[in-house]
Amino acid sequence: MDGDFDQLVERLAAMLTSADPEDIKGGASLLYELFLSAGRDTFSRLAQELAAYQGGIILKRLLDGAVTQKDPERQDTDLVTTEFLYARCCQAMGSLSSSKVVVDRYFNKSWESPEGRRVCKCIFLDLSGHLLTRAREIERGQSHLNLFADAWVLAPLECLANFAAHSKVFRQAMKDACEERTLFDRLGFLLSAGIQRTLSRRNAQRIRVLMADVAVTLAFSADSQLWALDRGVLKLIAAVYAVSPGDHRQDALGWEGSPAFLCNAVLLHLLPTESAAEKLRAHNALDGFRPHRRKMNDAAIPELDLWKYFEGKLQGRPVPTIPRDAQTRSLDVRADGAPIVCSWKECTAGPEPPGTAFKRCAGCQVSRYCSKEHQRLHWRTHKVHCRAAHVNQVKEKKASSMGNGEAEPSSSTA
Ligand SMILES: [Zn+2]
Ligand SMILES: [Zn+2]
Repeated sequence: MDGDFDQLVERLAAMLTSADPEDIKGGASLLYELFLSAGRDTFSRLAQELAAYQGGIILKRLLDGAVTQKDPERQDTDLVTTEFLYARCCQAMGSLSSSKVVVDRYFNKSWESPEGRRVCKCIFLDLSGHLLTRAREIERGQSHLNLFADAWVLAPLECLANFAAHSKVFRQAMKDACEERTLFDRLGFLLSAGIQRTLSRRNAQRIRVLMADVAVTLAFSADSQLWALDRGVLKLIAAVYAVSPGDHRQDALGWEGSPAFLCNAVLLHLLPTESAAEKLRAHNALDGFRPHRRKMNDAAIPELDLWKYFEGKLQGRPVPTIPRDAQTRSLDVRADGAPIVCSWKECTAGPEPPGTAFKRCAGCQVSRYCSKEHQRLHWRTHKVHCRAAHVNQVKEKKASSMGNGEAEPSSSTA
């Protein structure tokens, strides 16, 4: 990455908290560029640093902008400015929220109350409703809007997928929202042939990846696996297969991977669990997926006849053992996104190892450390931001007994 890390943080912070929407646009573009080019560990560290910045003012700003209608009673007067800001904030948030630390910082414990969950549901409805309105306009031929599909459709979907991936509260809110209308009813339009044809090839592919990613998240999280099966995730997966090109290798652009492969991972993960398999039978998944059996097999590793396994499993017949590779790779799917890293800019420890947790800064709960030494080194720049977080916490009357000392940083385990 060019230039000094601290300077980059300051530059991004200035842009993303600016009163000028053009600055936020610049900040969002720079973030996305870094997301693609900086390397996962460096981008993760940057996202963590921005989340901790001045006690969290950047995230607050972006989320206030990105979820303009989080309170349905709130009236926004200047619609054009609000809409422009909305799109840019969503873009910045879309990149940042690939980091679990960022999502944790926002959807913290205070959201677990019934009121928090209700507001969280509004956020889901707001993001999904907004992007759907825009997608419908684009499909109806308002071609000038197609130029902004990145900001209007992709960015909110990216936020939604990342929030779901990293926040249990958000998944709970999705469950609530999908009680009235299923997940497929709410988002399936994005996978219809019409909109997929209208969008650029790249945007259509990104939508397929993000939708498959939502399905992976819901299926791989124990708290959402079963309700998701009852609330439209199977139709969503079938729709991803339906609009994916036959050759899945052509559908894998760069880092994103193939949507059909992700959907296969969902099925491979669910089938061995009897309660999930039971739901697949109840929703007649065999008939639903039969038209896509060729695509399913094409996206599976060559040694695996996925359809035969799927059919056998649901019909209660003896099935061939799944090659170990197919299972491992399906479980590796979730390793995408920005990993948790040590917050010290010169640390080379890499991502937090599976099964262990880096220590958190006890003051802000955001910064993470592989060692005491790196916490000490980071404290020189971090203390200002950490104290701001502490002040905020006191203001919000969220008294914490683990406040930071004036000079000596402390830490707690995750
Ligand atoms: Zn801190
Ligand atoms: Zn470290």
